[in-house]
Amino acid sequence: MKIVVCVKQVPDTSDIKWTENNTMVRDGVESIVNPFDEYAIETALRVKEANPGSTLTAVTMGPPQAKDVLKKAIAMGADDAILISDKKFAGSDTQATSRTLAKAIKEKIGDFDLIVCGQFAIDGDTAQTGPSIAKHLDIPQITYTKEVVNSSDSTLVAKREIEEGMQTIEMQLPGLICMVKCDYEPRRAPIKGVMKANRTEIPEFNMEEIGLEPEQVGIKGSPTYVSKAFRPPIREGGEKITADSPKELAEILLSKLKETKVLVS
Ligand code: FAD
Repeated sequence: MKIVVCVKQVPDTSDIKWTENNTMVRDGVESIVNPFDEYAIETALRVKEANPGSTLTAVTMGPPQAKDVLKKAIAMGADDAILISDKKFAGSDTQATSRTLAKAIKEKIGDFDLIVCGQFAIDGDTAQTGPSIAKHLDIPQITYTKEVVNSSDSTLVAKREIEEGMQTIEMQLPGLICMVKCDYEPRRAPIKGVMKANRTEIPEFNMEEIGLEPEQVGIKGSPTYVSKAFRPPIREGGEKITADSPKELAEILLSKLKETKVLVS
């Protein structure tokens, strides 16, 4: 099987700052592999191991320093990686990002069987990129995947989280899955893997090399307009009410609700 894993570099901070254009300030902030993508890498490696002869390629779209997350994927066990990078990609929304990733996978990796994504990126948090890649490539997808139960060249069976519990789905390949937090933990990169990652040259492709036009990428290719970005106010601690009896407790609660005008009579 030819497996692809999409890995995003995200800021290692909850203290997000914004530019005047409502995009995130990323300069000077430590970066990490998006945590859900670590589960995507681990799951992709498990599928690779279950299907001898398979290969795993990690892909990211980002600035040159995003190579670090690709090196991490190689250190964990991916065979190789590609970086999709161009100043023209700056300002991409999920539509432009997924179009760029889909085109890069098609042009530079080719006849893939399975694409594995994280469900969410902890910075953008839209959960749109994986499903949009599937749409651009016209392949089926399984979102909220918790575990791949079975896989072969032609089909994949996965358990996915739904509100009512777990659902088991079989999908024809080529297809795409989006991973949530699994019951298993992502493996630690062995020293041999880290050494291999340090030696590996990661090829880099720009907009022209993947065959896209300026109006399809970056701000020009992004229909999303962010009018405002803000941090929700921090909730203040509540008040714990105690009383000697349930009746007294109910009376205190009732008068409090009247005070706050939640109850008017
Ligand atoms: P989600 O959809 O939540 O991610 C789900 C999964 O998709 C991830 O777990 C991962 O597997 C995959 N994935 C997502 N993004 C990538 C990626 N880049 N490479 C590989 N896999 C990926 N971001 C910038 O970095 N620079 C900008 O200038 C910029 N400008 C923006 C302007 C606008 C108007 C908007 C709306 C967003 C902008 N962003 C920018 C954010 C960027 O578009 C999103 O981070 C990106 O589209 C992915 O969306 P998400 O973070 O919600 O990921």
